[in-house]
Amino acid sequence: MERSIIHMDLDSFFVSVERKLDSSLLGKPVIIGGSSDRGVVASCSYEARQFGVHSAMPSARARQLCPQAIFVKGDMAMYSKYSREVTEIIKAESPEYEKASIDEHYIDITGMDKYVKHSLLWTKELRDKIVTETGLPISFGLSCNKTVSKIATGQFKPNGEGYVPYGTEKEFLAPLSISKIPGLGKKTYALLSSKGIEKIETLQKMSLQALQNILGEHGSSIWKKANGINFSPIEQHWEQTSMSTETTFEKDSTDRAMMERILIGMVDELGYDLRKMEKMTGCVTLKLKYSNFESHTYQASIPYTASDHAILEKVKELFYKNYKGDVWIRLIGVRFSNLISGCQQTNLFEDTEEKANLYTALDKIRSRFGSDLIMPACGQLRTERLARLEKRQQEKLEAAEKRKAEALKSGDSIHKK
Ligand SMILES: [Mg+2]
Repeated sequence: MERSIIHMDLDSFFVSVERKLDSSLLGKPVIIGGSSDRGVVASCSYEARQFGVHSAMPSARARQLCPQAIFVKGDMAMYSKYSREVTEIIKAESPEYEKASIDEHYIDITGMDKYVKHSLLWTKELRDKIVTETGLPISFGLSCNKTVSKIATGQFKPNGEGYVPYGTEKEFLAPLSISKIPGLGKKTYALLSSKGIEKIETLQKMSLQALQNILGEHGSSIWKKANGINFSPIEQHWEQTSMSTETTFEKDSTDRAMMERILIGMVDELGYDLRKMEKMTGCVTLKLKYSNFESHTYQASIPYTASDHAILEKVKELFYKNYKGDVWIRLIGVRFSNLISGCQQTNLFEDTEEKANLYTALDKIRSRFGSDLIMPACGQLRTERLARLEKRQQEKLEAAEKRKAEALKSGDSIHKK
């Protein structure tokens, strides 16, 4: 079936928010990130990009390239607030949407043409509404699938509207650099260009087998993207993954200090998985089950983050505010939800590269030597941790199996049509 998939991406989002709050930044090269010599660029304005500045570059290098740039320390709480405003508008208007990252959404408007209005017109109106209501510039790509739409957005940014009519995907992609393909990293780019493959057109002319000979397994997904083939569905917001863990005590307890230790362990485990999935969470939930089996959940929105200390602070706050140690507890649990992609951004506002990379370093040690090395836990707590880890591992496996089965099913039905 012919689908209509929109990709919407806010233009240099962090910079746009800063400019909304301080109009003196308009038209100037602005860099968001750590301003000390050892900081890192989290985001920058188009004016700064013209000097060769880009995100993830050391701030010192950025300052060399563009000495007149204005450095602004990022404010994730503020960006999260505006990101949510945009999501609310999209949610109110769209049949199905997916929040992919803090500044990106996918919307599935398949069938809109038939019943409502031309999908391009509908998309333009949604874009206008977002710009009018939030004051933030945004671009879109509209095509039959996620990859082509995302590439189209990139091509027409900023303030752009990219439309790739059904059947013209290959034609649209052909003249573009292979570096425009989402998921094609630096190494793959270097390897392909060393073989004289620079344009997507060249990939289109190759057989799947030829590309697999160069890239191995990875070749198949790159080949499909180059040919404008992608059946992956919109992950609807209510299906978007959440992650949780819980512990039932051997004996009901009122020991708040012990429970706090367990909460620390839980946040630590979930946080590790969150970063491994390269996601951030925007919402935490604490669950308490009393000895009479009555369950209570306490939920709080937080600025999007993947760092344990920010999450733990909120979890502890929820815990001490809602549990005074006066009722027997049999179970506690923690859930992260509103997950979006992009954990690498979280720490980029830190002043030093070391701080920004702290979690990466800790996570590396943990994946090599096991988590107990980082978070020593003893006795019953340790057994519980292991049981929880095992249970979640099992759940993850089952979820992956289910997704695989569903993907096969939907793939089949698309081929049949
Ligand atoms: Mg953006």
